[in-house]
Amino acid sequence: MAERKLPGKQEWSGRRRSATRVSGFHSHKNATGGHYAVEGINECYRLEKGEKMSLIFDVNEASGWSGFGGYFWYQGEISVSLSGLQKKTLKIAPSGLWSKFGSMWEGGKDTSIKVVFEAIEDSNICFYDHASGEIGHRHLDSARSNLLGNMHQFSPEAHFFTSDSNAPVIEGGQLHRVDGKIPIILKQCNRCARYLPINYDSYNPDAERHHLAFTNHCIAKHRIPCTHGGFGLLKSRQGEDDIDLTYGFQLECRFCKKFEVNAAHNPQRTSAQMKEDGARRRHIELLLEHIYQGTPQLVYRSQYGSELTDDIWHKFDRKCFNCHKAIDNPGDMHLDHTRPLMMLWPLDATATCLCGDCNIAKSGNPPSIFYSERQLKQLSSITGLSMVEMADEGPNEEVIDIIENGLDWLFEELLTTPQMQRIHDGKVAGEQLIKALVKPFSSSKKTRIDIISEYNIRRKLF
Ligand SMILES: [Zn+2]
Ligand SMILES: [Zn+2]
Ligand SMILES: [Zn+2]
Repeated sequence: MAERKLPGKQEWSGRRRSATRVSGFHSHKNATGGHYAVEGINECYRLEKGEKMSLIFDVNEASGWSGFGGYFWYQGEISVSLSGLQKKTLKIAPSGLWSKFGSMWEGGKDTSIKVVFEAIEDSNICFYDHASGEIGHRHLDSARSNLLGNMHQFSPEAHFFTSDSNAPVIEGGQLHRVDGKIPIILKQCNRCARYLPINYDSYNPDAERHHLAFTNHCIAKHRIPCTHGGFGLLKSRQGEDDIDLTYGFQLECRFCKKFEVNAAHNPQRTSAQMKEDGARRRHIELLLEHIYQGTPQLVYRSQYGSELTDDIWHKFDRKCFNCHKAIDNPGDMHLDHTRPLMMLWPLDATATCLCGDCNIAKSGNPPSIFYSERQLKQLSSITGLSMVEMADEGPNEEVIDIIENGLDWLFEELLTTPQMQRIHDGKVAGEQLIKALVKPFSSSKKTRIDIISEYNIRRKLF
């Protein structure tokens, strides 16, 4: 559609924003949900008592989803009105915190939405990610219709703009520069990997309760402070100090939580994916059992003369290392590899004692991604892994050396065992194992063979 000329344009109103820009931070392949970043806001509007300013969003006719909205911060006292819309989000937090507003709908006509801010006392207001445009996401396309009736409650965090979004026209208010002095804290979602706003103030724990794109993790009095890693402790993407939260936040943003956790709107696909992940883990475990000649428990017993599970449980003082929750018996412990199984690290004396929640939160992440600096030091002294080993996200090179020096063994013996020849859900176990080796091989510090080509060549020979 043609861009309209709009009256009263200020410096940056009507500016086109790139669709891919979310917060200036790129997605991270190891998204844990436990990282934060800080952005500084540069422009702020001054409103004298009784003065008003408006944000005018133009939303075009579309057959799919469209929406408008964003986040705002103010200092002073204001009222906000968002007229002409039945279904909307307007969540106004106290002065000095971030608030949010917006709405989204399917199949709308050309419309212009005016959001009016009025100063009850002299106030300052600034904005973040305020935009309008067409929205598209695979979950919106495939979800059951009964899940889509309340999408306006997921504005603005559900604004996955499909093309360039539009900034609103801004009328009124005195624009002044604040040069990054007003911070907005963004937390990563472990599903979509976007960095989205949270409220946090080290002097005011209740700031967290004014949640924006993430809901809280621990709310009950007896559960706070939330000590769950990733939920209650955030690590900086920018090398700043960790943040210790009081209530903590969910790992998933509200959008991902709705569609990927709560609704599991496509349970078949999800469970197939989980089955496949589980199968790959078992194949790697089997490979390691062959290489180390026994199950982790057996290998440990013959090496130390005692039980791996009991020893780890005692070594960690019968508590989850991450959240310090008491674990009453070794059977309730989740024995974590410390370094990821999928990077070919066996379960051994370096394992970590975790509770179920923390084990799920850590999942396949290397320790350096999941734990704080302080925790890494503690874990290093308990497990005996050096800080260098802790920081290394690479694979177990020893295992890769053994595989490379024993390719005949791998392809002619291991892959021809009945277990590896088994076909499950149309997939040959051995082939899944080879695929699972691609990541560790390609992240090796040494030059490694192309394991897939090797497999293809040998497969043709037999
Ligand atoms: Zn998300
Ligand atoms: Zn918690
Ligand atoms: Zn725990």
